[in-house]
Amino acid sequence: MAISEKVVGYMEKSSWIRKMFEEGIQLKKEFGEENVFDLSLGNPVMEPPEEVRKVLVECARDESPGLHRYMPNAGFADVRAVIAESLSPECKLSANDVVMVCGAAGGLNITLKTLLDPGDEVIIFTPYFVEYLFYADNHGGKAVPVSTGDDFRLDFSALKNALNEKTKAVIINSPNNPTGVVYSRKELQELGDILKTHSDRLGKAVYLISDDPYKKITFDGVEAPNIMEFYKNSIYITSHSKDIALPGERIGFVAVHPQCEDAGPLMAGLIFCNRVLGFVNAPALIQRVVKQVQSVTVDVKQYQRKRDYLYKELTRIGYEVVKPQGAFYFFPKSPLEDEVEFVKKLAEKKVLVVPGRGFGLPGYFRIAFCFPDSVIEGSIAGFEQAYKAL
Ligand code: PLP
Repeated sequence: MAISEKVVGYMEKSSWIRKMFEEGIQLKKEFGEENVFDLSLGNPVMEPPEEVRKVLVECARDESPGLHRYMPNAGFADVRAVIAESLSPECKLSANDVVMVCGAAGGLNITLKTLLDPGDEVIIFTPYFVEYLFYADNHGGKAVPVSTGDDFRLDFSALKNALNEKTKAVIINSPNNPTGVVYSRKELQELGDILKTHSDRLGKAVYLISDDPYKKITFDGVEAPNIMEFYKNSIYITSHSKDIALPGERIGFVAVHPQCEDAGPLMAGLIFCNRVLGFVNAPALIQRVVKQVQSVTVDVKQYQRKRDYLYKELTRIGYEVVKPQGAFYFFPKSPLEDEVEFVKKLAEKKVLVVPGRGFGLPGYFRIAFCFPDSVIEGSIAGFEQAYKAL
């Protein structure tokens, strides 16, 4: 085999979303696009808000010299200053605490590369965004999945059991992909307290990474507090992939708590890793765009409406599901113990979802609802028939 055995194994492990995507292409060819209800990918069909498109055109028209050159690896200083300011009511940051990155994925990779020594452990919570496994491994670390409690809330005793002297970081994601759970102030405070106690006992920091690209997508006025308010050894990573629907433009940022232990070397490491991982810097044009639209968000009410509709229908049919407080996913319990079997039955009804084992938790499946109403509404008959046929 020409390619690494490890990569072959990982591709197999991470293939659930891709498998469903490929199955979707096949089914659409066979039965027609409008007859297949593909709820597998978290790729929002919503267009970026009009204001973002307007600013993008203006920025592209700007003919000032030097706008497309290399820049400091951290990104444009004026852009970082605006972002720091936008976070400041919560955390009092300056431009020097922010690095512009190629999406949350780029942010996670530079952060883990900066933090990890070989064998260091990174705690993640099940069900998890599967890329965490690979990102930790990219940089010589090991992702350690920790179970969650009722309704996928944080299980603090499971966390305490998992923390040890090799733990370098903990990753949380709120609003959560795939469950839609948003952690409350009380939960984040308790999480921060536990990590502080553990760090103090060990005499070295455990870093808390909040990977929060869905931060601004919450429903019913639910608050998604910033982790920096609760724990000083914290690193906030977000992107504009979901909140202004620009996933293809690869833009986000990493912000480090100014009082974080070793904040200086940590920032220097992040900037260096942005360079040596080959990102060099986040794309110039789109940095200039996001500088001007920090207060803009997609119409979250549209997601809330889709969530309300789908929740009503799924529970009417009989599915057991936690009502998402944010993001754009449901993670229902599979009515069959083997959720892969059930996902196949849904596919026979032309409804495509992703088995829970793709997120480290068999027995559940993920539905994405970032699609047009026609696709969501069209899927209900299939959900109902597959459930009733059991
Ligand atoms: N983290 C989570 C939890 C995600 O769901 C995603 C994308 O779906 C990412 C990170 C990556 O986001 P980005 O496209 O900004 O790199």
